[in-house]
Amino acid sequence: MKRLLVFLILIMLVLTACTSKEKTINDNEEGILVYTSFYPLYFLAEEIGGDLVEAKTIVPFGVDSHDYEPSMDQLKELTEADIFIYNGANFESWVDKIIDSIVEGNKAINASKYCDLIVEDGVVDPHLWLDLENMIEVGLVIRDRFIELDEKNRVYYEENYENLKERLVKLDNKYIEELKDKRNDSIIVSHKAFGYLARRYGFNQIPVAGISPDQEPSPKTIANIIELIDEKKHDYIFLETLASPKTVEVIVEETNLEVLVLNPIENLTEEEIESGQDYITIMEKNLENLKKALVK
Ligand SMILES: [Zn+2]
Repeated sequence: MKRLLVFLILIMLVLTACTSKEKTINDNEEGILVYTSFYPLYFLAEEIGGDLVEAKTIVPFGVDSHDYEPSMDQLKELTEADIFIYNGANFESWVDKIIDSIVEGNKAINASKYCDLIVEDGVVDPHLWLDLENMIEVGLVIRDRFIELDEKNRVYYEENYENLKERLVKLDNKYIEELKDKRNDSIIVSHKAFGYLARRYGFNQIPVAGISPDQEPSPKTIANIIELIDEKKHDYIFLETLASPKTVEVIVEETNLEVLVLNPIENLTEEEIESGQDYITIMEKNLENLKKALVK
């Protein structure tokens, strides 16, 4: 019954979307209306679009982005978007179901299409926003789309993009420089979110949970991880701000590891946003903690 209702609402939404007058950017006093699926893409849209775009996220601040399901109201709002930017690579399980019906194909940007993806055992790692080069590439696509919709403000978008790119390149160089002399080549993390960081800066992740934080490990896997920890003489285990699997606590209890935060930036909390934190400041904090585990 519930499924039927959802189906009917979807049909209704599609019909409304099809009959409403083609909206142009000039109708929108707020500027380009950009919907992003979650925080890192919102960050890019905000930085590049500045005052000329109104950026929104589907996953509300403070909520874990894995397995988020948007409400019907949110899907309805999405039909109003001038641009919809999503991660792809199976990160948003809901996108495939709605992408053709809710968002016209030419309005959507699938970020993963522009990235060098990690594929392991046939499974794509969706955490591509943790590779700074990917952020620079996706930013370029967003910049060009803004210019397409609002050519008269081309210079503004170009300058914002150059500014952001410069900060991302600087951050990337800082990571390369400060992680180059490692005493340890692996870190223990709560879920398998850091493959892109690990690839770019030359270390390995030992994840407690899988690609999604709710993929809890078997007792055997936990035993294996604890054994690895003893062998490798790790001092730290990394937890996350939003979602950390219960089993991480078990490992902390079984070992003498000190807990540090490594934020996969799958979302920010309301408080983080209000205190002026963003993708770059959190990546800087991540670097400080990575250095403790890998270098110092
Ligand atoms: Zn994740």
